[in-house]
Amino acid sequence: MLSLAGAVLLARQSLDEQRALFETDARIVHRLLSQQVVQHDAILATLALLQPGAEGPTASPEQRLPALYPQILAVQRRDPGQRWPDPALADAEAASRQAKRAALASLDLRTGRYQLVLAAQPTSYALTIDLRAMVPWAEWPMQPQTSPVRVALEHAGQRYLVQPGSVALDTPRPGWRFEFHKLVAAESQPFDVVATHAVGWGQLPWGRMLAWGLGVAALLAALRHLQRQRTARRRAEELLRLGQVARLNTLGELAAGMAHELNQPLTAVLANTQAAQRLLDDDPPELATARGAMAQAAAQARRAAEVVGRLRRAIERPDRGDQQQAVDAVAAVRRALDLLEPECQRRGVAPQLAGAPALTVQADPVALDQIVHNLILNALQALEQVPAAQRRLTLTLGTVDGLGELAVADSGPGIPAEVLPRLFEPFFSTREGGLGLGLSLCETLAAGMGGSLTAANATQGSGAVFRLRLPLAGGPA
Ligand code: ADP
Repeated sequence: MLSLAGAVLLARQSLDEQRALFETDARIVHRLLSQQVVQHDAILATLALLQPGAEGPTASPEQRLPALYPQILAVQRRDPGQRWPDPALADAEAASRQAKRAALASLDLRTGRYQLVLAAQPTSYALTIDLRAMVPWAEWPMQPQTSPVRVALEHAGQRYLVQPGSVALDTPRPGWRFEFHKLVAAESQPFDVVATHAVGWGQLPWGRMLAWGLGVAALLAALRHLQRQRTARRRAEELLRLGQVARLNTLGELAAGMAHELNQPLTAVLANTQAAQRLLDDDPPELATARGAMAQAAAQARRAAEVVGRLRRAIERPDRGDQQQAVDAVAAVRRALDLLEPECQRRGVAPQLAGAPALTVQADPVALDQIVHNLILNALQALEQVPAAQRRLTLTLGTVDGLGELAVADSGPGIPAEVLPRLFEPFFSTREGGLGLGLSLCETLAAGMGGSLTAANATQGSGAVFRLRLPLAGGPA
């Protein structure tokens, strides 16, 4: 609709411009023709005023007029006592005398000729005028041969074509037709100046209209695209937020449950120890009752420990608790690297595997996979903070102090001194959007398998080293 409205507006504007141009030209034409026609009245009036002089070579000065005015073909006069050679002139003279102004005679607009008679005393005059010579082409506002505008002089059902105009005027075609009608400014020669201009559909500014339509379409398409993009982004953000909320909800529930379960035994421990304190302060101290209160406190503390233990076992997946078995650590590392290959490639990191070609440890294979996966992913995230050319990731397998060891070393920024002691705390994270549960879980899992997980900064160059130690298969527990 916008395209259409704009196109219609452009077409209307163009038509208005063409109409304005046409009307200006038509007015100029009317003025020029009026000026010419008015001259005839003035000439006749002058002749009537001067009247013929004495006989002699200058007796008929009016005969010199055709030389001065090309449109005047002949000048005739009727002296007193004479008759006009043409009765039409006599009729015109009578009409002129009555109207007190010049009168038309033998009008033939097809040939463009007419006569103009002014009755005067004693001599009357008649001019024979040729319209073809009257048009002042030098001042004409249009190209008479090529202009599409038709100009004609009309009177009493006759028409003299001044300018032919385009053929479209003869064969009515769909489009617009501009017309201009005005009588020339001489009462004696009441010719109607009629200008006509036909504008067809083909003359509308199609190029501009099309450009406008395409422009609007392109703009709307761009806006729509932008809106779609915005909607997609909003949806993605919403999904992410929902995911985070869901995760946090679970964690929140866990924390609330834990607080609820721990609150009761801890309150009891507090009450019992305070009571025992008071009993011991008594003089003499009531030792037996105090001992009872302390025993109660100890029992409640054990209950609290049980709650924590239960929770820990739940996190460690009690169903996998006895899944310890001999596991090929090299294969576990290769598996993790394989899984994370796209991540490595995306960051331009080529991981190096070094150390012992074979290492078998006593471990829960799923837990081991999880730890290795986590350590590599953390290293990759740390490597993002240094330029691509400096990114190194080395995984070294070996045996240290009778334990199997996997060292994951990266060339990232390393671990700041203030972060190092808190690294394995649950919910400790320096990453935006990080949950801070990865390392704490890994440490718990490693400890669950009788091993350990430690972190340090590289001794040479920058970066961090995480060491996972696990009992060797078949070795001492
Ligand atoms: P998260 O990855 O969600 O932050 P983690 O427990 O995996 O949780 O990591 C805790 C924090 O330990 C990280 O936010 C980061 O500051 C630090 N960290 C872990 N691995 C590395 C490493 N390879 N280099 C430097 N800092 C690390």
